[in-house]
Amino acid sequence: MHSNLWVEEKFQDFLGIKFKVEKVLFSGKSNFQTVDVVETKGHGKMLLNDGLIMVTERDEFAYHDMITHVPLFVHPHPKNVLVIGGGDGGTAREVIRHASVDKCTMVEIDGMVVDACKAHIPQTACALDDERINLIIGDGVQFVKETKEKFDVIIVDSTDPIGPAQPLFGEAFYQDVFNCLTDDGIVVSQGESSWYAMDIQQSLLKVLNNVFPKSYLYSFSNLTYPGGLWSFTFASKKYHPVNDFNPERVTQSGLAFDYYNTPLHSAAFALPSFVIKGLDELIDN
Ligand code: SAM
Repeated sequence: MHSNLWVEEKFQDFLGIKFKVEKVLFSGKSNFQTVDVVETKGHGKMLLNDGLIMVTERDEFAYHDMITHVPLFVHPHPKNVLVIGGGDGGTAREVIRHASVDKCTMVEIDGMVVDACKAHIPQTACALDDERINLIIGDGVQFVKETKEKFDVIIVDSTDPIGPAQPLFGEAFYQDVFNCLTDDGIVVSQGESSWYAMDIQQSLLKVLNNVFPKSYLYSFSNLTYPGGLWSFTFASKKYHPVNDFNPERVTQSGLAFDYYNTPLHSAAFALPSFVIKGLDELIDN
């Protein structure tokens, strides 16, 4: 028992966020990053990669609802879905709640993240042994370059653009993503913080604009990420994220959510003025 232990996420070089730790459940170093799972006092179990918070049990539903259900309810018949990263399992867990999905391939580079979450965070990892999930431990960049499969929806559930995740923010990767999407495919990606990383958002949206006919940003509130307001990008060959969204499909699905709902689906694309100003002309109408 660690009675006075706190974990501090040091974000960029000027911000720290501290959480009281009850117990360290796992600490390891893989070929890619450090991987820690701790039991916190106020936020349940927490996964950190390289000291940065990936998920906590308390608020993971917000992130996983919004990265998954927004594209899967815009695409009219998502059958074959690819998740890149997402080693905690929360995104794949949400993907296979959709009855139309026959197969969800998940390509996570770091087997240690998957093993640590299977052992210690079943709340997110609980679906990883489902027969519809095809889990591949490998590099997502390589996978999209080489696969012959076509996907209806691709979800890039990645860490920040450092280390092995850096190419996941580049144009060569998104050109390969475009090529392995179906003709009406959608890609949604972890889109960083408008408060602290608008430069990354600008560069990612420029890349998406160079490759896809339509690109957008949407936001959600995350309790444990720096600044609270976090974003995803939505790029599409065909569908508009709001105009082509049919709220009746959500009702018909019979699914219930703790964060996502139909008014919020559309509202998430309404951005604060400082974000619109900063991302001027990079977001389609
Ligand atoms: N919700 C999280 C966040 O934004 O903080 C992301 C969660 S998930 C744990 C991110 C995963 O992306 C990590 O486990 C990391 O190993 C994986 N990843 C990073 N680069 C990758 C790559 N090139 N291919 C596949 N997975 C990658």
